Amino acid sequence: MPKLSDRVQTFTDSVIRRMTRISDEYGAINLSQGFPDFDPPKPILDALAKVAYEGPHQYSVTYGAENLREALARKASKAMKREIDPETQVVVTCGGTEAMMGVVMSICNPGDKIMVFSPFYENYSADAILSGAEPIFIPLVPPTFEFDINLIEEGFKQGARAIIVCNPSNPCGKVFSEEELLAIGKLAIKYDAFVVTDEVYEHMVYAPNKHTYMASLPGMFEHTITCNSLSKTFSITGWRLGYVVGTEEVIEACKKVHDFLTVGAASPLQEAAVTGLNFPDSYYDELLELYTEKRKYFLDGLDKLGIKYYEPQGTYFVMLDIQEFLDLPQFKGYSDLEFCEWMIRNIGLAAVPGSSFFREEVNNLIRLHFAREKSTLDEALARLAKLKELLK
Ligand code: GLN
Repeated sequence: MPKLSDRVQTFTDSVIRRMTRISDEYGAINLSQGFPDFDPPKPILDALAKVAYEGPHQYSVTYGAENLREALARKASKAMKREIDPETQVVVTCGGTEAMMGVVMSICNPGDKIMVFSPFYENYSADAILSGAEPIFIPLVPPTFEFDINLIEEGFKQGARAIIVCNPSNPCGKVFSEEELLAIGKLAIKYDAFVVTDEVYEHMVYAPNKHTYMASLPGMFEHTITCNSLSKTFSITGWRLGYVVGTEEVIEACKKVHDFLTVGAASPLQEAAVTGLNFPDSYYDELLELYTEKRKYFLDGLDKLGIKYYEPQGTYFVMLDIQEFLDLPQFKGYSDLEFCEWMIRNIGLAAVPGSSFFREEVNNLIRLHFAREKSTLDEALARLAKLKELLK
């Protein structure tokens, strides 16, 4: 067989998305890959229906339809407390996934270093590998997922071009405090480097925690590249609409990469999504209320079962500690991945093995999400109760 590139030998497929495939195969309840099982807001669906007949159906401007960029710039201006220019400081991408890949490709040369927290959303290591960059992992230490700022300074001293900050953080649910962001930002300024943020869960930050936009902090707009998406905010993960906000120079580079990677995001979907961005601010309050309720409902359920977990401050994910199960004789020698596969086959519930998020050897955590209707969460909890039965 003719040879494949060395590059593709250095990483696996996404475990998150693999778990969804296995879950579907067994008809399990899928709490692995994070996406809602409820519909997007009706006005967005109505807009999509209208677009079907009225268009556009051809390419939009490659870096995003003008009206969508204008709407995104309005949202970003508010968040970042400065005027964002829709023409030069925004690029629309195919999901947050392309946003992040495009940014890492735009700032890293082969051999460059980039800092990534561990645990991390698994795409970041693939983003680094595909860009030829080498990740330096900074531990977020459970249970509070705090980090040692000195390690970040050390990374910048080693010449890291950037640090990726997923805030709120997938998979551990950490919300970075303003003090933490200021400390990271100060170092980025000192070493003239970038902070690349992934803020796709910006509207899922649970009281008393607050979301701080890195780009809004003093002197940080020039050092921040913000990746974001409409997937989670409008429950349209399949639409693949993401965006990057940054300085003109950064966005110009991202536009070039984006143009040759994908040309553009789907134009009918861009048009329909504008409707969502024009919702009043109360939409975001209601979204937060909805997820606050789901979070409480699911975590209360876990409490009742006596299953240990790390309480998420943001996102719709929760990491469960499965050590007590792994200690059972029937799971002797099981990896967390094998345990997750066993769960899908035997109790009909899909989770993501924690090891796919950690640089460190971690085998006792799994990630579930609660972006599900209450009835689905009930059934998921009933299945977890079956797991708990094994301990009796
Ligand atoms: N962010 C989601 C998760 O971690 C999945 C996103 C994706 O698969 N593109 O589950």
